[in-house]
Amino acid sequence: MRVLMLAPPGGGKGTQGIRLAEHLGVEHVSSGDLLRAAVAERTPLGLQVETYMNAGELAPDALVTEAIRPILKTRDDYVLDGFPRRLAQAEGVDFDAVVFLDVPHDVVKERLLARGRADDTPDVIENRLREYDDDTHPLIDHYQDKGVLLRVDGDRPPDEIAAELREKL
Ligand code: ADP
Repeated sequence: MRVLMLAPPGGGKGTQGIRLAEHLGVEHVSSGDLLRAAVAERTPLGLQVETYMNAGELAPDALVTEAIRPILKTRDDYVLDGFPRRLAQAEGVDFDAVVFLDVPHDVVKERLLARGRADDTPDVIENRLREYDDDTHPLIDHYQDKGVLLRVDGDRPPDEIAAELREKL
């Protein structure tokens, strides 16, 4: 089973993706974690994506695609978190289910400020939300048209959301 987690930044796709992957017995693959590890290790990829991530902008499609594709090629089942993140990245990757965690912007802003990761400053959060509206949100219609979208209310306690996902997938 191949599942994609879609949500605004701070929407909980990491938390829920890990739990769902555990439940399904498949691997959880996060583009954000992968890129953050590359930055921390100062790899060539990390050096190229760091400025984009720090500014709350999406990294160039070619870089992210090159980093993620080899991982997907060697696995049959996974829960993917953070990729594809815009239509240009969606080609050639198919999913059995796409989970959209719907959370209002004012709620995710509060969550991100409370979390305080390096890219959780007010200006960078605004940029990430703008990128999400412009680039990531169109994926929702794309997967709705394909008939694989599962919209879930993400503004609830994590256990409730996890239970709904376990029941429906
Ligand atoms: P969040 O959970 O806040 O959405 P992520 O951990 O998924 O954050 O990603 C952090 C940053 O990594 C993004 O703001 C972006 O700069 C970069 N990134 C992650 N995935 C992608 C992708 N598929 N394409 C481009 N940039 C990406």
